[in-house]
Amino acid sequence: MILPLEITDLRKTYRGGTVEAVKGMSFTVKPGEIFGLLGPNGAGKTTIISTITTLEKPSSGTVKVFGVDVAKDPMFTKRQIGVVHQEIINSGFFDVEEILTFHSGYYGLRNNKERIHFLLEKLSLYEHRHKKVKQLSGGMKRRLMIAKALVHNPKLLLLDEPTAGVDIRLREDLWKFVQELRNEGMSILLTTHYLEEAQQLCDRVGIINLGSLVVLGDTKAIIREYTHKKIRVLLT
Ligand code: ATP
Repeated sequence: MILPLEITDLRKTYRGGTVEAVKGMSFTVKPGEIFGLLGPNGAGKTTIISTITTLEKPSSGTVKVFGVDVAKDPMFTKRQIGVVHQEIINSGFFDVEEILTFHSGYYGLRNNKERIHFLLEKLSLYEHRHKKVKQLSGGMKRRLMIAKALVHNPKLLLLDEPTAGVDIRLREDLWKFVQELRNEGMSILLTTHYLEEAQQLCDRVGIINLGSLVVLGDTKAIIREYTHKKIRVLLT
């Protein structure tokens, strides 16, 4: 079976090897599942995302997207992946539709209006399409980031702490949308600090701390086995 994502013995160090951000990690994302990486600050979540998107090069180990090593064919893998980064979009100059048009151009998609309008409708942004980003609320900015990640119709979505710092209503809206994407067949890797988020969304979850996987398995089984209290201890 060709897997959307296969990470094998991934290591990543910084500063000449003095900082070990990821210490030999292996996991997969299966077709149509939401796989969660749950861990506290500094666990290595963003570093893992950065190696998948080829922003960072692994110190050793491999990252494969749909069977292709990202180091060997970064262009192929970039087309398969949509990424929602942690940092909120903050471009004051362009309006919503221009951002999505510009981003489509990055993938060589010159006539992408239909897809852009579809995403704007789906994410309740259509009536705001001529607003500058600085005029948007926090929730709209988050939804715009998701639309941006989806303009090229990727098959694997990476969500790096998509609901960090958002209120519970918006968090629930985003959860609903992520579930809809999964129901439509999208494979998703999600990183999060929030146990509740992993519980709501993830089919399987890996709990990571200080660059290592502490435990990995079916979300329900892990929560049954470890209980909330023990997981909170694992995460501190
Ligand atoms: P957070 O939840 O706070 O975003 P995280 O789980 O995403 O944390 P990473 O950002 O991947 O964790 O960081 C893992 C470790 O690697 C941390 O100790 C961090 O300080 C270190 N690190 C990350 N990027 C760099 C870098 N460019 N140079 C040096 N150290 C780094």
